[in-house]
Amino acid sequence: MSEAKRREQIADLGRALYQRGLAPGSSGNLSVRLDDGWLLTPTNGCLGRIDPASITKLDWSGVRLSGDPPSKEAFLHLAVYEERPSAQAVVHLHSCHAVALSCLADADPEDVLPPITAYYVMRVGRLPLVPYYRPGDRALAEAVRPLMRRTHAVLLANHGSVIAGTSLEGAVYAAEELEETARLYFILRGCGVRSLMEPQAAELRATSSIP
Ligand code: ZN
Repeated sequence: MSEAKRREQIADLGRALYQRGLAPGSSGNLSVRLDDGWLLTPTNGCLGRIDPASITKLDWSGVRLSGDPPSKEAFLHLAVYEERPSAQAVVHLHSCHAVALSCLADADPEDVLPPITAYYVMRVGRLPLVPYYRPGDRALAEAVRPLMRRTHAVLLANHGSVIAGTSLEGAVYAAEELEETARLYFILRGCGVRSLMEPQAAELRATSSIP
């Protein structure tokens, strides 16, 4: 896909995420890997109204090559690409139910969500929790690195989700699946829940296309 097409795809999927209420205000950012650098949504922009020409192009040192100033969370995306050579795209959202999940005091930091549905297991799998860091703290990227070596999705405490994919569309689908599963989790909280059994979840993980 050409760089121009990738810019259009970022704008189209950003608009879709905004319209579905998954990227409120100026939150959330999307990036894709190119042959000669990478693209990232600009800082202080609304994902619902991205001009494809304004999308930032950066090199692998994080230096801006063209476009508007990048999201302040650029260092987070760069850390994911460095740790996951298979990652072609990264989606970071502050979507409501995923953020709510990231605030729970009793969450298991090794895997925040139980395997409630097959599609969650296939698209997200395991979801470790990254401890809280203040916005812009570079230590956040260092905390994300070791987890991203073994999984493509993490939840940042009191913040939101970070998901890598082998395509932007795939990463967006996984972020949406995570948000919907977090919503289900809260709907079911206090109910007797029958999650998938470990052998059932393991079978799905073995056959899923998780990168
Ligand atoms: Zn954020």
